Amino acid sequence: MKTLLLLALAALAPGAWAGSGPKPVEIHDRLADASVPYQRVALTLDACSGRFDDDLIEFLIRNRIPATIFATKKWLLKNPQGVAIIKAHLDLFDVENHGENHIPAVIGRGKKVYGIPGEPDILHLRREVSEGAKAITDIIGVAPRWYRGATAEYDAPAVDEIGKMGYKIAGFSINADAGASLGRKAIVKRLQNVRSGDVIIAHMNKPASDSAEGLSVGLLELLHQRFVFVRLDQVDLTEVSGGK
Ligand SMILES: [Zn+2]
Repeated sequence: MKTLLLLALAALAPGAWAGSGPKPVEIHDRLADASVPYQRVALTLDACSGRFDDDLIEFLIRNRIPATIFATKKWLLKNPQGVAIIKAHLDLFDVENHGENHIPAVIGRGKKVYGIPGEPDILHLRREVSEGAKAITDIIGVAPRWYRGATAEYDAPAVDEIGKMGYKIAGFSINADAGASLGRKAIVKRLQNVRSGDVIIAHMNKPASDSAEGLSVGLLELLHQRFVFVRLDQVDLTEVSGGK
């Protein structure tokens, strides 16, 4: 009876973890070195699969807002026009690794995060990370240093392996658009909670979503509050909860 109840509760838990072993974790990070005398924030934008949100990127270019883009090889190959715009603005955009095919960094047959199957074994994880990095080096021309797995959830063996491969895992502290599923007002509200040192996650691969509309309003408010936007190639992160 108790087991049944626990199973029922597990099924209702957020993250929709399907598999055996410990549940993977979402890694939460903030900017390291809180001693700077101004308000800092990092905007990170995932390009998982799908299209290029030109409204969002054009808004960032117009307002000179730097961002770190986490792109998959899959997205880079599918969006040559978006890639050309990003490459023309590498003064604003740092491009980092979101994997080859957008496979979550959890290892073991049958494991899934949010319904997306993870990796069957460690070799597949290595390939996802290294082929993603290679695509960025080849297509963008700069070698990535940061990794963010699909769904931003990781199990412990994946965290270890990504570290051994020489990449730092990029968590976040403000989830601005919940996978490009939130409406304009909800996104603005989430950005009103930003404090100095936060790392924002949002999406730039769903132009039909409200992400560009919500982020435009919310990010302008942060600019007016004199927040300085930093990119992950300029800073380090410190983990507040998750993988360690
Ligand atoms: Zn993604």
